[in-house]
Amino acid sequence: MAAQLIKGSEVSKQIREEIGREIGELKDKHGIVPGLATILVGEDPGSKVYVGQKEKACNKLGIYSERSDLPADVAESDVLALVGQLNDNPKINGILVQLPLPKQIDENRIINAIDPNKDVDCFHPVNVGKLMIGTGRFLPCTPHGIMELLKRSNIVTEGKHVVVVGRSNIVGKPITNLMLQPPPGGNATVTLCHSKTKDLASFTKMADILIVAIGKPKAIGADMVKEGVVVIDVGVNRIGKTDEGKAILAGDVDFESVEKVASAITPVPGGVGPMTITMLLKNTVESAKMANGL
Ligand code: NAP
Repeated sequence: MAAQLIKGSEVSKQIREEIGREIGELKDKHGIVPGLATILVGEDPGSKVYVGQKEKACNKLGIYSERSDLPADVAESDVLALVGQLNDNPKINGILVQLPLPKQIDENRIINAIDPNKDVDCFHPVNVGKLMIGTGRFLPCTPHGIMELLKRSNIVTEGKHVVVVGRSNIVGKPITNLMLQPPPGGNATVTLCHSKTKDLASFTKMADILIVAIGKPKAIGADMVKEGVVVIDVGVNRIGKTDEGKAILAGDVDFESVEKVASAITPVPGGVGPMTITMLLKNTVESAKMANGL
């Protein structure tokens, strides 16, 4: 039987409508307009696309947005000064620094400089710590998007064995943490694998829910999963270009073979990707509410 397709694009549309209604209410009842600032350093085409998508999504929902494009050779002190100004700007509730940053800039120093109350990416150590102990008001965007995607697709995580492949700070580690937290966390048993894991397939085959974020196109095949597994493919890999010059994308999972054995699976594109920006918008609204004592 064909696997259920977990359509992030549809779930994301539904959540954005809910956020749009909340923004309308905040404005009408309290005169609050949430604001997001984005900082883009350099000319990386992928980063430009992501920042553009975030700006567009803000405009569409009525979130005030401010964008700063800085040259690739900008000094770290200039970026820190800009972050400082945005921390003090009451119109701004969320600050997003698009990563990666050029070599002369210490990413950790920049992240640490962001006011934790405006850290809508949830990268600041204070918010990472709160996530660990289950008290965070912000949740990191991609992992939070995965949790919502599962919830709204009626996929139960409690008591399940979740296997995560990839231990990055933005996906693997935080989704591991969210999955093992008691409700509203996933209440699951979690195994975290990485590039030094020996016999990866012996772990992935045990998964009731398999979450893959490694950045290796089609690395997980049907021979590495068990029948009925739920697969969340976070990977976004450019594997070529169409005749029109558009990027051809593939996930970290070999969709064609795995969908034949899985019970549910996210496509790439249109799976986890759209959820990430949606949860960023949600965090920005949450931050605006916090700033106004709501
Ligand atoms: P990352 O920082 O590149 O780290 C990759 C992780 O995968 C590392 O922990 C690495 O292990 C592990 N790994 C690499 N090859 C492996 C292998 N063959 N077997 C097992 N583990 C392996 O990862 P990331 O930033 O999380 O990104 C991963 C993918 O997700 C990328 O394709 C990225 O574009 C995509 N992504 C998508 C979204 C979205 O919104 N859809 C958001 C974020 C990322 P070591 O630690 O041992 O090196």
